[in-house]
Amino acid sequence: MLGSRIGAAFGDLHRRNGVEVRTGIAVSQVTVREGHATGVQLADGAHVPGDLVLFGIGAVPNIELARDAGLATDRGVLVDAALQTSHPDIVAVGDIAEAEHPAFERRVRVEHWANAQNQPAIAARTLLGKEAVYDRQPYFFTDQFDLGMEYRGLASDPENVVVRGDLAGEYLAFWLDDGDRVEAAMNVNIWDAGDDLTALVASSTPVDRSRLADPEIPLAEVGAQR
Ligand SMILES: Cc1cc2nc3c(=O)[nH]c(=O)nc-3n(C[C@H](O)[C@H](O)[C@H](O)COP(=O)(O)OP(=O)(O)OC[C@H]3O[C@@H](n4cnc5c(N)ncnc54)[C@H](O)[C@@H]3O)c2cc1C
Repeated sequence: MLGSRIGAAFGDLHRRNGVEVRTGIAVSQVTVREGHATGVQLADGAHVPGDLVLFGIGAVPNIELARDAGLATDRGVLVDAALQTSHPDIVAVGDIAEAEHPAFERRVRVEHWANAQNQPAIAARTLLGKEAVYDRQPYFFTDQFDLGMEYRGLASDPENVVVRGDLAGEYLAFWLDDGDRVEAAMNVNIWDAGDDLTALVASSTPVDRSRLADPEIPLAEVGAQR
């Protein structure tokens, strides 16, 4: 999602804070003695000792109930932009909802709390027969060590990124589409840019990549000079 350049910056953050990060190596087994974990055996032959093993291997939504009830499903429960499922009396919100969205050509399923917090009000309008469209940008935040970040939007190409600032400190990252429009933006340890980033992601105006990267240019003035 963040791409190799920003992913490497997060890897470095963890290394600076004493975490040993190994990538591209499969775990072949968890080693156990007398019913307790002693570590993990890696496919390259190395053994990493430890008495606590935590797997972070992604999540799968529990959509069996919806599917068995006859609702249309794919990677989640399919809903339109009003969050209505294939049954007119049933709505779906949060992690399980794979929703049409005015800003995206494909349905999106977003696993972040902001979605779970904001979608129910739209779903309630739909159930009341009122006009309703869920059109908020996807959003999440995370705090890791001394880094705090917020991410808005949804990048289709994680590698097409422009950075403004210092990847080891404070920076903004922008993911562009192939027409140089900002699809997603992230602020790292910078807390006064939120409104500008929201506006950039919402805008369909192309930006100038070098102006976007230049901290001297106000974000409201990064439109393409064409
Ligand atoms: C480890 C972890 C870290 C996260 N960190 C962040 C973060 O930093 N920032 C962020 O924005 N988001 C984060 N998230 C995601 C966030 O927690 C979710 O997006 C949010 O909780 C989704 O809310 P929800 O109500 O859609 O689903 P859930 O909170 O998953 O609630 C669904 C509920 O339905 C119940 N359920 C399932 N099937 C059935 C059934 N058949 N019958 C009855 N009940 C059922 C489940 O038990 C569960 O209680 C994190 C998630 C995890 C797991």
